[in-house]
Amino acid sequence: MARVYNFSAGPSMLPEAVLQQARDEMLDWQGSGMSVMEMSHRGLHFSGIAEQLTADLRELMAIPDNYKVLFLQGGATAQFSMIPLNILQGKSKACYVNTGAWSAKAIKDAGRYCQVVVSASAEASGFDRVPEVSQWAIDPDAAYLHYTANETIHGVEFPFIPESQGLPLVCDMSSNILSRAVDVSRFGLIYAGTQKNMGPAGVTLVIVREDLLGAVDTKLPDVFNYAVQAKNDSMLNTPATYNWYLVGLVLRWLKSVGGIKAIEALNIKKAAHLYQVIGQSRFYSNPVQTDYRSRMNVPFILAEPALDKIFLEQAQALGLFELKGHRSVGGMRASIYNAMPEQGVKALCDFMVEFESKHA
Ligand SMILES: *Cc1c(COP(=O)(O)O)cnc(C)c1O
Repeated sequence: MARVYNFSAGPSMLPEAVLQQARDEMLDWQGSGMSVMEMSHRGLHFSGIAEQLTADLRELMAIPDNYKVLFLQGGATAQFSMIPLNILQGKSKACYVNTGAWSAKAIKDAGRYCQVVVSASAEASGFDRVPEVSQWAIDPDAAYLHYTANETIHGVEFPFIPESQGLPLVCDMSSNILSRAVDVSRFGLIYAGTQKNMGPAGVTLVIVREDLLGAVDTKLPDVFNYAVQAKNDSMLNTPATYNWYLVGLVLRWLKSVGGIKAIEALNIKKAAHLYQVIGQSRFYSNPVQTDYRSRMNVPFILAEPALDKIFLEQAQALGLFELKGHRSVGGMRASIYNAMPEQGVKALCDFMVEFESKHA
């Protein structure tokens, strides 16, 4: 069967070269006579895979030496709790910015461990923007300031790193990690589930500045304790070995296509093409203010919702899959992560133009 263009928000497309390499190495990884799945996580082969994974990520993101890189389990959702459990530093408050569905979940979970100060919210305008940073109410007594770099459901992305007035900046980059250049030194902590832009589901990346790792509640399980995981190279217990390997292949692929700068340029081009089709049309619309439109997740609605079903059917017949919008916002959503080829975006754009000419 021919591979389709899969616009799913996550788990999402992987680079074909990665899948081919995984297939080729499935039964015998580089002459070891074993699949990576079958290797001891403490063995020589897997140690090499793990070291390479960390080294490649440090290189791609230019992560400074005073940051720990952790590969954990539990998804970004586990981090909604692990962050306050690990880095409150004895304080009772944390600041959060609410730009959509994922920020709201982070806020809800953090509320179980500390007093959440919502420094700004775009809820009143239907999550169509990043609230003006100069208006954020940042509490100097808070332990950190949390924001969501890309709202996967609402299609709102920060085009800049916000100023946090001295508080450690904590960022959920689940759906735009490795898609654009970021200065890691501006952050206290960055986290991301891997299933959008880094690989398959099952690994959660945490990049944390060392000075934030301090005393935690003795009841905190060791597997959820950043300091303990850091000391054990994220191998306190058995990690998701095969998934680490696949994430490693994705990083290698990213390096082979020119790294973050090159993929960012391509992402800009892909998103611009799609937003141009939407912008020039009176049939499609995107509710997000132009400056904050996501390069990764492009929600759009059809002027005639009764046509949603045939839009999806016809798209699918052309090999354009998973375009249905999130149930909470309706309409359509095209997720165009790093692994979505430019050809896939072009095919979608061509289809949209033709669909409009036939039905609008
Ligand atoms: C997908 C997503 C999450 C949740 O990730 P899980 O791995 O399912 O826990 C959190 N934040 C953002 C921005 C996401 O896109």
